[in-house]
Amino acid sequence: MTAPHRKQRINVTFSPPTPNGDLHLGHLAGPVLGSDVCARSQKVLGHDVAFSTSTDDNQTYVVTTAERMGTGPEALIQHAFKSVTTTLERAGVQVDLFERPDAAYTEFVEGFFTHLWRHGAFDQREVELPYDAEAGEYRAEAFVTGRCPACLAHARAGVCEACGGYNLPAALLPSGTAAALPRRTASIWVLDLERYRAQITDWYRASDVRLRPDLARVVSDSLATRLPYIPITYPSTWGIAVGWDGPDAPAQAINAWPEIYVGHLYWLAQARKADLGDCDELVQFIGIDNGFYNAFVYVTLSLLAAEHGLPVALPKTRTLTNQYYLLEGRKFSTSKGDVRWAGEYLDSVGRDRARFVLALTSPELQQSEFSEEIALSTINRRFDEPISALTRALNTTLAGRSADTPPSSWWAAALAASRQRFEEAYRLETFSIRKAAEALALHLEVLALRSEQIDLDDPADVSGALLFLWSLRTLAWPVTPDLSEQVTQSFSAPSVVEQAPLLAELTEPPAGAFRGLNTRRPDHGALTTPS
Ligand SMILES: [Zn+2]
Repeated sequence: MTAPHRKQRINVTFSPPTPNGDLHLGHLAGPVLGSDVCARSQKVLGHDVAFSTSTDDNQTYVVTTAERMGTGPEALIQHAFKSVTTTLERAGVQVDLFERPDAAYTEFVEGFFTHLWRHGAFDQREVELPYDAEAGEYRAEAFVTGRCPACLAHARAGVCEACGGYNLPAALLPSGTAAALPRRTASIWVLDLERYRAQITDWYRASDVRLRPDLARVVSDSLATRLPYIPITYPSTWGIAVGWDGPDAPAQAINAWPEIYVGHLYWLAQARKADLGDCDELVQFIGIDNGFYNAFVYVTLSLLAAEHGLPVALPKTRTLTNQYYLLEGRKFSTSKGDVRWAGEYLDSVGRDRARFVLALTSPELQQSEFSEEIALSTINRRFDEPISALTRALNTTLAGRSADTPPSSWWAAALAASRQRFEEAYRLETFSIRKAAEALALHLEVLALRSEQIDLDDPADVSGALLFLWSLRTLAWPVTPDLSEQVTQSFSAPSVVEQAPLLAELTEPPAGAFRGLNTRRPDHGALTTPS
């Protein structure tokens, strides 16, 4: 109901990385780069943006990985937190805040769930869980592996990474630890989604946000049958403890998956230094494996929180999913060591070039593949070569010239077309980092070709070429921020490293004369193929 150009408060987040390792290219090409390009582009469009997430310390994956690596969970988390923080910086991911859960966070999450529990939002259920008698512990989530009862992929209890479906620990078809352990009854607290079917259905009916097709299918498939109940607690000592069953009952901890929703609320409020959910729109970037939790559990928790008087707002909520990114045809596997680490790749090709090629091949709507060789040839052909060509031509012919007359009609038309392509890629309704990278590649291609034929005696042609280059300061900033800064410097304009350039200012020509483009920046990788 808002006018298209009103300044909106937009919160952007991506699924918290599990601190059992560094980010790999699948993370970067999916939710991480997607959310950064989104946060940056909304700033370019003039909105007020908060962008944050945290690590996901309470996932049982942390414990299973630590056990496998012969270290303790805390040491593993500290190491992973440092690596991920460094990788985000190297990648130019401009989060306002990236934190680890601390005491204040834990208290907030415990308080949130306890409030809903006290208001009767959850039900107590007896469930069968694999029980490790030797350790005296129940096994759930990452501790339990087997075959997904829906798609037969190898899966861990909780969420099947292959189909995004939800499964209780005892529902996996035995093959692995689930088969080896006997079952034992445990009393846990659950969120029975079927109880809230009407509210969930109303929420989707009232929303004008169009879901990406894969998430739309998770929603319609799930609504077509009885909705499952989701454990809110597990009998566990790992995670945020709650004492709902009294001091003598076995220890229960909050399931780390529903916790993510409350974490986003908390960290975004911290980043904005404002009340919970105090924004006009929440944009979440997730892998499809988080689709069910996001589409059902987060939505239901937000509705229950509002209903039961927690001070949360219910902003317009947009979830942008991505599919799997394959590494030379195989699925990335941290546990098998079959990964390409994001930090290493950023170092080997340079930040802009990595961001460009990962955006261009991002698995936004369907599975896509990363091949080292194809990526390098794409970078050369669609990024390096046009930039070298246009730099050579413009630096020779146009250094010292200014964009001081209106552009020729040819350049005006080209600029309007390119701007429209970028704007479509950046608008939330049609947001796509693939489209943004494609728009950038075509902009560079056109400029490179045309820059060799500029009529130096025609001020409108000279102005047009300079304005077309200048527009990259704004249009390229979300995808390739270093190129944007290089264009900025070539016109002696104010730096855009910290301050986003605004689309509204795009029509203002640069004040200074063109002094040549310097695209060789040793800190971000020279624009030649590494040998
Ligand atoms: Zn499955």
